[in-house]
Amino acid sequence: MPELPEVETVRRRLLTCLPGLLLREVVVNDWTVSVQTEQELNGYLAGRRVTGLRRRGKYLLVDVGAVEEQAGGASGGPAGGLPPAPGAAGYAGPSVAVVHLRMTGQLVFRPEPGERPPRFLWDLEPATRLHFQDVRRFGRLWAFEPAAEDEFFGSRGMGPEPFGPEFTVAYLRGALRDRRAPLKSFLLDQRRIAGVGNIYADEALFRARLHPLRAAGSVGPREAQRLHAAVLETLQAGIDHEGSSIESFIDPAGQRGSFQEILSVYQRTGEPCRLCGTTIERTVVGGRGTHYCPRCQPRRGGMAPGSRRRLGEIAPPRSAKPADWEAPDR
Ligand SMILES: [Zn+2]
Repeated sequence: MPELPEVETVRRRLLTCLPGLLLREVVVNDWTVSVQTEQELNGYLAGRRVTGLRRRGKYLLVDVGAVEEQAGGASGGPAGGLPPAPGAAGYAGPSVAVVHLRMTGQLVFRPEPGERPPRFLWDLEPATRLHFQDVRRFGRLWAFEPAAEDEFFGSRGMGPEPFGPEFTVAYLRGALRDRRAPLKSFLLDQRRIAGVGNIYADEALFRARLHPLRAAGSVGPREAQRLHAAVLETLQAGIDHEGSSIESFIDPAGQRGSFQEILSVYQRTGEPCRLCGTTIERTVVGGRGTHYCPRCQPRRGGMAPGSRRRLGEIAPPRSAKPADWEAPDR
């Protein structure tokens, strides 16, 4: 699943080619990709030139300018004779498109032969098409006025950007305080830190030498400092390696990332720890497969409620009634 480093890789790749291109039309082939209609999306995006690319957590933001007048056009209408945009109520100012890749979304210029139709595509000028491929179909597209951006992310309760000024050691210590949730769940919570997902959470906890089932509130000041540094270093390493291509991640040019080649614990269950040789173990935290080295990430300090059961140390409680239970006759 694309996380911050993968989305940042997509952003950087698109930054080399997308700004300056005119977005002629958005074509939606799968209406479930957006809560907005194709017409509404075009009302915000068609006839506008791409001016920039940004990222917020795992969301990719594409900025476009105001609708451009057709050069020398008799009607003076929007570029390319575009359809009217009732959804936007005649809005012709600059807009923001937001793409969430979710599980398997890919923005690619040249789809592989035999791929199913893109869920949406952007028809750009000079002649270019950006396709949104998405096997699992969880990816989403939105478009709105720039003034609506804060509300959009505010309603999603997005926490600070790891590389932004708000994400300090003091912030992290405050966010961890009194929380009983396991550290792994804490790191995945986008309201605490934006952009961290399953891969980078496991890798950051290994780097910080912290057990994934430690209660977040049990982390001491020095451990919080280690965790803060580990989150940043792990995400930066992911960006430097242009993401992890474990399942389907490719960048818009069809290139794979290489962070999967240097993973310490993620999906290395049963393999030796690269530092100490101990066998990497796996447990499940909050429904997510979680990988760790039991020696490098020792259990010290407070563990989250239920962690003994999750580590398989006590048998799960037997059902009060066996499957074939029947009430005895009175
Ligand atoms: Zn180890």
